[in-house]
Amino acid sequence: MPVALNETHDPTRKSFVESANAPGSDFPIQNLPFGIFRRAAGEPPRLGVAIGDQILDVAAAAASFEGPAAEAGRFSSVPYLNHLMSLGPQVWSALRLALSRGLSIEHGDARLREHLTPMAQAEMRLPVAIGDFTDFFASIFHATNAGRLFRPDNPLMPNYKYVPVAYHSRASSVRVSGKPFKRPRGQRKGPNDAAPSYGASRNLDFELELGIYIGAASELGEPIPIGRAAEHVFGFCLLNDWSARDIQAWEYQPLGPFLGKNFCTTVSPWVVTAEALAPFHTAAFARPDGDPAPLPHLDDAEDRAHGGLDITLEAYISTETMRQTGAAPQRLTQTSCALLYWTASQMIAHHSSNGCNLNIGDLLGSGTVSGPEKSSWGSLLELTTRGTVPLTLPGGEKRGFLEDGDEIVFRGYCEKPGAVRIGFGECRAAVLPAG
Ligand code: MN
Repeated sequence: MPVALNETHDPTRKSFVESANAPGSDFPIQNLPFGIFRRAAGEPPRLGVAIGDQILDVAAAAASFEGPAAEAGRFSSVPYLNHLMSLGPQVWSALRLALSRGLSIEHGDARLREHLTPMAQAEMRLPVAIGDFTDFFASIFHATNAGRLFRPDNPLMPNYKYVPVAYHSRASSVRVSGKPFKRPRGQRKGPNDAAPSYGASRNLDFELELGIYIGAASELGEPIPIGRAAEHVFGFCLLNDWSARDIQAWEYQPLGPFLGKNFCTTVSPWVVTAEALAPFHTAAFARPDGDPAPLPHLDDAEDRAHGGLDITLEAYISTETMRQTGAAPQRLTQTSCALLYWTASQMIAHHSSNGCNLNIGDLLGSGTVSGPEKSSWGSLLELTTRGTVPLTLPGGEKRGFLEDGDEIVFRGYCEKPGAVRIGFGECRAAVLPAG
């Protein structure tokens, strides 16, 4: 069940940090996402909250808070959000309430201005010490599009409508937005090649995904009931599951993705809390007539009614030539998480349904978020029909897959009548040569 609405969601509340009140800001006072920042190289990492174009040092601010909210400020230097997560949902919520009041015009404490750092001057760090990373495949549109390219007659596997399919990916190579990564090398074997060869991937792709951070652990051997799954979610991020399609195509049978995926994953620096997203829950994706109902352990009336997330996701490309000529990044796609066939709670319930335990700091990826229309497909694999129908970019460049120097930027936001728009900031990274 989504977190209840409270005064922190009040659309009339404004902040004394003026930039937070600007229309279109990703970080109004109703958002308050958490991240880890440094004010300068060599300084210790700190827990921060985004407000407008500023970052509030949470430990410094919490010195004036009382009760559970003060607990979050006991350590001025924290390398990751895991400590805050370990304090539990009541503290997360108490801290959010204290920050909302403290930064508001109405109840605010203008002394908090002393603890603001402009985002432009801060270095954002990987926000979470990620223990395990599982990537799902929750968009039926993506699963069908991708499946059709490999199996034209039988695009969707028979398990898809019963099982929230996933694979265990790699936590060690998750990087925060802004860090470029090297094009991976690996074994590639084209359909007409007699044998594979080892070399730089020729089919490098992005996958536009929503990331889910687990903030409350579960016990080994104890499945999480679907009705309790939301209580384990701390927050959400943008996630780019970089994929080398040529390596993936050769290696994936029979055990699934491996080196085609685990060379790098990029996440946004700001973690939008489950509580901030409460106004943007919507009905879960309606299964078309004739689709089987989920098995009972993956079915919940409340989740059906409110388990969808009305989050718009966008991907943009900026090539080296586009940057040199001052061309704006070109939007490649715009989609919505409300189109996912499986909800976050279904993913969590399924992941733990065999007794597998979830830990604080675990990261779940939604899988590529694609919609029914081409304008809402979340990977180049789909947008270019596996590279065979290249996109034309401003300036005439063509792209089937990514080239060295290309930068992919994700943006995400929620907006609806009666609520203040909140955003996820950016998730960006550029491709370096394999070297
Ligand atoms: Mn993926």
